[in-house]
Amino acid sequence: MTAQHLSCEQLKTLVRTVPDFPQPGIQFRDITTLIGHHQGMAASVHHLATLAKAAGAKKIAGMEARGFIFGAAVAVQLGIGFVPVRKPGKLPINTIGIDYALEYGTDRLEMDPGAIEPGQNVVMVDDLIATGGTALASAELLRMAGAVVTQAIFVIDLPDLGGATRLRGAGITVDALMQFDGD
Ligand code: AMP
Repeated sequence: MTAQHLSCEQLKTLVRTVPDFPQPGIQFRDITTLIGHHQGMAASVHHLATLAKAAGAKKIAGMEARGFIFGAAVAVQLGIGFVPVRKPGKLPINTIGIDYALEYGTDRLEMDPGAIEPGQNVVMVDDLIATGGTALASAELLRMAGAVVTQAIFVIDLPDLGGATRLRGAGITVDALMQFDGD
């Protein structure tokens, strides 16, 4: 299917950059233009799924909210289950959770403690890694639930913000389909 053969370089041209959102100085990398393009979405999922398969994924975890878009599609492509890592108060069951620091204040992620079998190889998928705070907290939470987490896959890496380096320090290999300089 030619739809799956757009290169990562071509995919990069489908990401819209919005300056000064949500605050002055931030270059917001908007993936809605990528996912709104059928071949762009299909190729993104294909490339992510290839990486997740090579990592031996037995389950995909996606972080709310944009990680759900790519993560769920990758899980379907690989024929494995999807685990949502959610913002607080969304799941209708007893959850496990983790608080983590943001630039200003803290945030929290929660998940179903029974979503993963002990020792299961879980690959994390999200749209973008910046400081890596969200991904690190997710990895810690997934590990609390019994997952083995050694691989995280992103559509976009902002290497100048150091997230990938931080994840590697926690024993997690990072792959991304594209990089943007700066923040
Ligand atoms: P972080 O925890 O710093 O790695 O931030 C990760 C999350 O923040 C990602 O899931 C993105 O959705 C969002 N994010 C951070 N910086 C940007 C940016 N420049 N453009 C778009 N989304 C961003």
